[in-house]
Amino acid sequence: MSFQKEQIQDRARGALLGCAVGDALGAGYEFKPPLADHIPVEYIASGMFAAGEYTDDTAQAIAIALAISKSDLTENLDEVAIEFFSWFDSEPADVGIQTRRIFNATKEPRNAKKLLAASQEYVDTHLKAAGNGSLMRTAPIALPYLSKPELIEQVASDVSALTHADLTCREACIIWSKAIRHAILFENFDGIQLAVNDLPSFRQVFWNEIFDEAEAAETASQFENNGWVIHAIQAAYKAIMLTATETPEHLVLGIEAAVRVGNDTDTVAAIAGSLLGARWGYSAIPEAWLDPLHGWPGYEANHLVALADEITEPIWQ
Ligand SMILES: [Mg+2]
Repeated sequence: MSFQKEQIQDRARGALLGCAVGDALGAGYEFKPPLADHIPVEYIASGMFAAGEYTDDTAQAIAIALAISKSDLTENLDEVAIEFFSWFDSEPADVGIQTRRIFNATKEPRNAKKLLAASQEYVDTHLKAAGNGSLMRTAPIALPYLSKPELIEQVASDVSALTHADLTCREACIIWSKAIRHAILFENFDGIQLAVNDLPSFRQVFWNEIFDEAEAAETASQFENNGWVIHAIQAAYKAIMLTATETPEHLVLGIEAAVRVGNDTDTVAAIAGSLLGARWGYSAIPEAWLDPLHGWPGYEANHLVALADEITEPIWQ
C-alpha cells in the first residue's frame, strides 16, 4: 500500500469515525448545562443510549454512506430515502423533531421526491426550520467525490434538503462537506473559508459574519442555542479552533471541547468530530473510544472503517 493511499484512507475513515465517537461521547451529556473543564469526558449511559452507543446523527450518516455504496447520489436520492426509512422503521430511541415530522408526513417513504416535498412543505409552514439535523450527518458526503468538489456542493445540498430544505441548512452542509474534503486532502481547516468563498457574494457576507462571530467568541458554549444550525456550526468551529495544536491530540481535545458545550452535545461533537477526524485521521482516535463504539444497524468501529473504505474515491496512485 502506498504512503499516499494509507494517509488518505486514514483521514477518510477519520471523518466517519470522528462523527461516531463525538456523537457517542456527547450522548451522555445531552440537554445539560456546559461541562466544566476539570470533569473528564467519557462514555456514559444516558436514559436512551448505552455507554459507547452512537445516536441518530451517526445512524443517518451511515444511512447516507450505505446509499452511496449502492447508488449514484448525483443521479437520484431514492436510496438515501430507503436507508433513512430503514433506520426510522427500526424505531430508534431518538429522532430529531423536524426529521420525525417530515418522515411521518411522507406518503411514499421510499421515494426521495416525496420526502423532499414534505421537507419543503415544512420549511414553507414553519418559522423555525433551520435545525442542526442535516449538518450533523455530513461526514460521508465528501468521500466519493474527493477529486470532484463541484459534486459535493450538489449532493450536500440535495441530501440536506430531504429533511432540512432551508437555504442556511443546505449551505452549512456544503461548507462542512467541502471542508471535510479539503482536510482529507490538505490536512488543514482552510476548507471552511474556501467553501464560503465559493458561495454567491451575498451569502459570503452572511457566512463570513457567522464565522467572524465564532472567531471573536470567548467560548464555544456561548452559542447555547445549538439545536439551531447556526449556533451548532459556530460551537463546533469554536471547539476546534480553541483547542488547535500541531499534533493529532487536537482530535481528542477538540471533541472533548465540543462535548463540553452543553445542550445538543452529541450533535455539536458529531459535527466537530467529522472535521477533526478528516484532518487528523482514524489513527488519532484513542482505542478507549473505538472499542465500546456501537449502534444502528448493529455496527462497531470496524464496520464503520470498512464502510468508509468502500465509499472513498480511490484517487491515490
Ligand atoms: Mg443525536
